[in-house]
Amino acid sequence: MCEFDHLSQRERELALLAAITQRETFMIEISHVDKWYGPGFQALKDCTTSVAKGEVVVVCGPSGSGKSTLIKCVNALEPFQSGEIILDGIKVNDPKTDLPKLRARVGMVFQHFELFPHLKIIENLCLAQEKVLGRSHDEAVAKSAKLLDRVGLKDHARKYPAELSGGQQQRVAIARALAMDPIAMLFDEPTSALDPEMISEVLDVMVDLAREGMTMMVVTHEMGFASKVAHRVIFMDQGEIVEDALKTDLGF
Ligand code: ADP
Repeated sequence: MCEFDHLSQRERELALLAAITQRETFMIEISHVDKWYGPGFQALKDCTTSVAKGEVVVVCGPSGSGKSTLIKCVNALEPFQSGEIILDGIKVNDPKTDLPKLRARVGMVFQHFELFPHLKIIENLCLAQEKVLGRSHDEAVAKSAKLLDRVGLKDHARKYPAELSGGQQQRVAIARALAMDPIAMLFDEPTSALDPEMISEVLDVMVDLAREGMTMMVVTHEMGFASKVAHRVIFMDQGEIVEDALKTDLGF
């Protein structure tokens, strides 16, 4: 998954940290972004931040402060009116950018899983691999099986989403996003629709991903997750980024 794969876990964490601290390679660059919903309501105000390759950034703030809107702008699920977002060197708001192609490269995990209810778990994982990436069915099935195993759900491949718990469905949603070999993952309150006892099973998968060097932007209220793996924390309020600090500077 990353260039540090040959190193031990500890060496890898140190190498990643060094690369992130230098912040030389940016995966996501957000510059002076303004976003209005309709003519009267400005949801994002002059938002500027960046996410280095391998960096884990937690976005928090009160409800309605623009967190979800901000991460949806990153993969162009929401258009914005001014400013610029560059994703792995590609300008998101350039009319020439192939948005479906760009979105296929960024994994997105939503609060409400968004699995297809009429498809089995394995089919949910295979669909975009085959339709968007052009993988053969066998290749997609093999990749899906591996990822289901990784999120602890290999025995559930033939079930339908409704037969799984919320926590299991969210782990399927993460596996589905990973099946596309994303360059970065965006999470929009991935645990807030879950019963409390299911939150940790989802967070554990996310912690593993973070430790493997995945670039992540995570909207969450789970400060335990932030303290464990985030490198930076962004606080939003009324559409503005009011604080953007290294976790160590925040004292946790
Ligand atoms: P958060 O994720 O911090 O709760 P959101 O980004 O969802 O905040 O929303 C920011 C503001 O934009 C809120 O006031 C919300 O009501 C408004 N908003 C979000 N989506 C839409 C939409 N599709 N149309 C109009 N207003 C919206």
